[in-house]
Amino acid sequence: MIEEFSKLPGIGPKTAQRLTFYLLRGPREEAEGLAQAIVWMKEKVGFCSVCFNISEDAKFGVCASEARDRSVICVVEEPLDVLALERTGEYKGTYHVLHGAISPIDGIGPDKLRIAELVDRVKGSNVSEVIIATNPNTEGDVTAAYLARVLAPLGVNVTRLARGLPAGGDLEYADELTLARALEGRRPV
Ligand SMILES: [Zn+2]
Repeated sequence: MIEEFSKLPGIGPKTAQRLTFYLLRGPREEAEGLAQAIVWMKEKVGFCSVCFNISEDAKFGVCASEARDRSVICVVEEPLDVLALERTGEYKGTYHVLHGAISPIDGIGPDKLRIAELVDRVKGSNVSEVIIATNPNTEGDVTAAYLARVLAPLGVNVTRLARGLPAGGDLEYADELTLARALEGRRPV
């Protein structure tokens, strides 16, 4: 158990021990609840085949909806960023989830992200605008610059969320009004 916990990101041996003894001492239902949630997640939840957001179905709700504008794609780092943008109620386009940002220090290059899939998606459709909504930090900036470069030859408008989001912060923590304004004030890259 300690070994398994130690494999998780951000969990050192000390924390792994603490979690293990917590579950060992606690009520049976609590440990079973956790075990069932993990099994359920791996069985039922996957990734949308279009935008790579987490989804219980082959297609995430936004991708399946006729009401959404397919000519606009908003590119985000994580599934939680989709939730944050949906909460604004302002955005009517679709999404593309990269599952991270370019970070040479952590060994994350463009090939580790869903960037090739984004390029294919833009190529094979009548997408008119790609809004880059990566986080306002170094990795987010590097990723945005890279995306602008690979999307440029495709003749699509590439914009980025306006500044005003908390610098260095994560999109998912931005309040709805700030995020809605950043979306409204987006600029060409
Ligand atoms: Zn999708």
